[in-house]
Amino acid sequence: SQVLRVHQLAKAYTNRRKQIMALALSGIDLTVEHGEFVSIMGPSGSGKSTLLNLLAGLDKPSSGELWVQGENMTTLHPNQLALFRRRNLGFVFQDYNLLDTLTLGENVGLPLSLDGKTGPEIRQRVKEVMGFLGIADFMQRYPYEVSGGQQQRAAVARAVVHNPSLLLADEPTGNLDSASARALLELFQRLNKDLGATILMVTHDPLSASYSQRVISIKDGYVYNEMRRTSDQQQF
Ligand code: ADP
Ligand code: ADP
Repeated sequence: SQVLRVHQLAKAYTNRRKQIMALALSGIDLTVEHGEFVSIMGPSGSGKSTLLNLLAGLDKPSSGELWVQGENMTTLHPNQLALFRRRNLGFVFQDYNLLDTLTLGENVGLPLSLDGKTGPEIRQRVKEVMGFLGIADFMQRYPYEVSGGQQQRAAVARAVVHNPSLLLADEPTGNLDSASARALLELFQRLNKDLGATILMVTHDPLSASYSQRVISIKDGYVYNEMRRTSDQQQF
């Protein structure tokens, strides 16, 4: 089944006088099936951030539509959209975005407490996810007390703790050394294969993209190439 469908999505940035400053996306079509690990690749300025902001519901398209789990996100009202995002999407950012005043465990549990889950249920699930990601020992630590790679794992744990339909990752390896980056990408593969997570990752790094099953290349705001990895190939 389809987790994501994007039809003729376009975004023009305009100034206060409604003059177009940049046509960031011009008619993007794409679909992501349940259980896929897809990456969107493109050089700086190709529209990656714009596309991700639209998929995340953080910005409105100029035209076109996008469905997540069959729900048309472009027509949801703001408070429905907020709830829909919280339940159906998980986000991993380049700069982790962990809250410094909370322990890693509290950070990871945040999506569950925001969704009204109770203490014991949250603790159980946080333990399970942090265990899967190999950071169970760091539950009581604060973000500044652990390495960048461990912070990124905690950010991934927080992004998947509520079993989102779609995990969106924005340059997740951007701030990691190459060993931590490889470890994170292998983790994404495990989340995808072992837990069936559907992942859409934006990256400008071909090595990162090679960990996914399908690479959608964009430039100047449109899709110009798509490649699918065959099972016997390690990389493209
Ligand atoms: P990428 O993430 O691939 O670097 P972006 O989506 O950030 O690309 O940008 C795509 C195009 O849209 C670029 O030409 C960029 O300058 C322009 N752009 C992005 N954000 C804005 C904005 N808020 N206002 C005006 N132009 C923007
Ligand atoms: P990323 O590093 O994720 O590609 P960018 O460097 O493209 O992000 O953009 C960083 C921020 O600046 C974003 O919020 C984007 O919307 C904004 N931005 C990018 N290009 C422009 C632009 N030409 N005019 C105004 N804002 C822009």
